[in-house]
This record gives sequence, C-alpha cells and structure tokens, in this order.
Amino acid sequence: MIYVLNKKDSCGDTLLRHINHLCALRYGLCFCGQSSLTGLAPLEAVLFDIDGTLCDSDPLHYYAFREMLLEIGFNGGVPISEEFFIDTVAGKHNDDIALVLFPGDLERGLKFVDDKEAMFRRLAAEQLKPLNGLDKVRKWIENHGLKRAAVTNAPRANAELMISILGLSDFFDAVIIGGECEHAKPHPDPYLKGLEALKASKDHTFVFEDSVSGIKAGVAAGMPVIGLATRNPENLLMEAKPAFLIKDYEDPKLWAALEELDKATSARSV
Ligand SMILES: [Mg+2]
Repeated sequence: MIYVLNKKDSCGDTLLRHINHLCALRYGLCFCGQSSLTGLAPLEAVLFDIDGTLCDSDPLHYYAFREMLLEIGFNGGVPISEEFFIDTVAGKHNDDIALVLFPGDLERGLKFVDDKEAMFRRLAAEQLKPLNGLDKVRKWIENHGLKRAAVTNAPRANAELMISILGLSDFFDAVIIGGECEHAKPHPDPYLKGLEALKASKDHTFVFEDSVSGIKAGVAAGMPVIGLATRNPENLLMEAKPAFLIKDYEDPKLWAALEELDKATSARSV
C-alpha cells in the first residue's frame, strides 16, 4: 500500500501527493498536517499583528518593563523574569497589564504603562528590526494584489512608529488598534474590524500572529492563523490552535503552504 502511494508517475509525482492535492482543493485539508490554507482560495487579504509578528519587539518591551519596574521596587526589587513577562504582558492590552501589575491602583498602573510605552518608542527608534523574510512575504502579497491590514493591541503611537520604521506605511490599507475597539484581543473584535475595514471575507483571509492572545483572537474571528514562534514557547502557542507554526517568514513550511494555496487558486479559476 505504502509502495503504491509513493510510486511516482511520469511527472515524478506520487499517488499520495495527488490525493493530498485533491483533498486540499476540495476540503481545504492536507494530510501532511502542514496547511489548512488551501480552503481560502482565492485568497483576498492577509492580516498582521505587529509586535513579535512584523518585528522582534518583545525584547525591547521586556527591557522597558524590567528596568522601569525595578526603578519603583516592584517585586521587592527583584527584576521580573522573562517567564513573568510572557505570562503577564506579551500580547496583552495595556489596560489589562495595568490591572495585573497595580491591582489596587489602576490610575497609577495606566500612567506606568504610558511611561513604559514612551520608553519603548525611544528604544524602537534605535533598535527595531524586521523579522527575517518580512520583505519576501510583503512582495508576495503585493504581487498577488491582496488587501492587508495591521491589527494590534499596541497603542496607535507605537503601531504607527513601528510600521514607519519598518518602511510599511504605504503597505497597509488599514491599521486597527485593539484599544479603539469595543474589546481588545483575545476578543475577536479587532480582527473583525480589520476584515470590515478591508471589505474582505473571513473565508478568504488568514492572519499572522505571535502570541497566545493574538492567535485566539484570529481563530475566534473565524480565520486560520499562522503562528510565529518568535519568542513565545511553541507548546503554549499550539494551545491557541494556530493552523501551523513557523519560525519566521523564511520558514519553508510557510512557502510550501503558499505554493499549495496558489495551486488551489489556479485550479479553481480553470
Ligand atoms: Mg504580538
């Protein structure tokens, strides 16, 4: 049986590959477990989170939180650990972070996170770098004429600064801010608003995200989410049910999935 499935035809393709391809076209499924993107054909739009997804900004956020919390003697003067940062801060909205860090004094918490964002912007202006392969995926999206939006829990000043530093100001058709929606991520609101701004269907759109909170938001909005394992542990990200995880935009898994999606689109237009 295995021999038959793996026997190559005159074009060098195996029967297993043909079955995979047919199933992918018909059901948006892939037996290899690699991609559930083919069901989106023809693709219409791509939505991106910003922090940790367009750029590896979490080390800058972690540094700013750690130094500023140390300055005020938080945690008895012991610097916060990276685990604490991942559990309490990464991908979350500032109002929620303020509540957790300063449970008895929300006003102080909100002022603290505002000051921390100002420190982050100073660091970002000097040190922010795009994620590996971002330029390649940007070109792929432009060449395919797809709509695109950034959807983030970051404050607007941060979001616009990062997009500008990365040279993507003209790339995005819309920038959706979690704090300007009724609910921020992990609620689906920001992603639903992104679809609405682009006039795109959830059935023909996928999301790039790097945090548990963000993946949950994209999945709850009804879209497949490609998880970027930039900083957050893979086992934690998998709990939020991404379509699959990649290391960065150079990851062959991503390009294999996009190639399958292209084939599915061509097959449907015949
Ligand atoms: Mg993120």
